[in-house]
Amino acid sequence: MTPADSTSPLHLGRSDNQLDNFTDSYILFQETTRKYREAYEQLEAQFESLTVKLEETNVDLQKRVEERDRVTNYLNNILDSMSGGVLVVDLDGQITHFNQEAEELTGYEQDQVLGYPYADIIGLADGRQNTAMHTLDTGERLSNKEKSLRRADGRVIPLGFSTSLLRDEQGTVLGVVEVFNDLTEVKRLEAEVQRVNTLAALGEMAATVAHEIRNPLGGIAGYAGMLERDLSSEDPNRRLVHRIIEGVGRLNRIVSSLLTYTRPLRLNAYPVNLVELVEETTAFFEIDLERQRDDITVERSYEDDALVCRLDPEQLQQVILNLLQNATQAMPEGGTLQIRVFAEGELGAFCIGDTGIGMEADVHEKLFTPFFTTKEDGTGLGLVTSKKIVEAHSGTIRVESQVGQGTQFYVHLPQ
Ligand code: ADP
Ligand code: MG
Repeated sequence: MTPADSTSPLHLGRSDNQLDNFTDSYILFQETTRKYREAYEQLEAQFESLTVKLEETNVDLQKRVEERDRVTNYLNNILDSMSGGVLVVDLDGQITHFNQEAEELTGYEQDQVLGYPYADIIGLADGRQNTAMHTLDTGERLSNKEKSLRRADGRVIPLGFSTSLLRDEQGTVLGVVEVFNDLTEVKRLEAEVQRVNTLAALGEMAATVAHEIRNPLGGIAGYAGMLERDLSSEDPNRRLVHRIIEGVGRLNRIVSSLLTYTRPLRLNAYPVNLVELVEETTAFFEIDLERQRDDITVERSYEDDALVCRLDPEQLQQVILNLLQNATQAMPEGGTLQIRVFAEGELGAFCIGDTGIGMEADVHEKLFTPFFTTKEDGTGLGLVTSKKIVEAHSGTIRVESQVGQGTQFYVHLPQ
């Protein structure tokens, strides 16, 4: 036996041991590798799912951003297309939103107001209690209130407004919204209604009074006529009686125009060629004019085509005659009567102009006030009556005048 042999069991034992160890290690290694692989696979799967999740989140985020942009745009569009001014102030009282209508109503542009204090722009002319600042201070909302606003151009307009706190989803206050509207037109209509009501009452009274006056007036005219007939042509009293008859005539005219003015208008409207109507009335007026004055020239300029408007020719003839008469009376030294008929867009229009005395600002202002007259024998009802008739036709009457140069009255009527 070799020494090796003697040691072989030991060797063997050792190598047995080694083998075991090796096997163990191998198994362990295998196990570990498997675990690692599993872990790796798991990680990979996790990574994959994370990537997917991330992608989903990204898409979701993108969607949300788009959605938010869409909502913001949508809200901005709504705000911009609203028929009312809308502004928003933040907690510091600075303007953060100002829609298109707000720009138009106030005359300020967005870049002049965004980021600036509300108090500087919309002003606190009427005091703080009538503003968004009040709502910001107290939390109290104001609804359907009125105040006046000084626009960027200095013009003051009546404003209807409401304010309300602006909160987020959690209810935290973000600021205040103020919605406002121009009340100029509403105020004008209110005044108009008031005027019409007063007129209606006045009309009722005038009709009664006029009726009561007419009878004795007829009597006076009748008796004066008889007296005049009985007096010989040389009698100096004849002149006095003649004065009485003239005076009665004037009173009668005043009473008649008062009745025309205060009576409710009933239009008998049908399609009429405006060119023909104006020309017929002018020709009729000219016959009278030529008998009284030789210092007035009549100029005409008419649209070639017919301008057919739905109107009451008798009433409109009254308007044309009133304007022609005023124009003539405005030219005591003679001049030119200018008559034009023309189309303006969808409207039929005519203009009656003179080269007369024109009017001062105070006359211009009171032109359409009942009983306003600068003439000794005027009634001051010609223009108000004309205006009433034109407006009953849904038309407009407008005047341009220069002192010493002349005046043009424009009437526009729907075709
Ligand atoms: P009246 O003719 O009886 O005075 P109107 O209502 O027709 O009443 O006119 C009111 C006033 O308007 C006139 O008294 C006159 O001062 C002014 N006016 C009207 N038309 C003209 C005109 N063409 N040129 C200058 N002033 C005018
Ligand atoms: Mg007149």
